[in-house]
Amino acid sequence: MPKRTCLGCRQVRPKAELTRIVKRSDVVEVDLTGSKPGRGAYICKSAGCLDKMLSEGRLARSFKAQVAKQDLEKLVKYASKLEN
Ligand SMILES: [Zn+2]
Repeated sequence: MPKRTCLGCRQVRPKAELTRIVKRSDVVEVDLTGSKPGRGAYICKSAGCLDKMLSEGRLARSFKAQVAKQDLEKLVKYASKLEN
């Protein structure tokens, strides 16, 4: 079982328990299929972890690129559907 590190809490978890966020060219989005092409980052299915990742700019650092405002807004919207 492949494992990945959550960008919020930094815990290593099985990939299947995490949400994949994918960056392809300049677009960053939540990858609910887990298999979209592009560079991936992983986060717990937790609003707290997602907030932490966004507030500390960890996603941009992981992708080595700024994340567009509209993409950040989509991630925040996604986070609002999650539990803490
Ligand atoms: Zn986490």
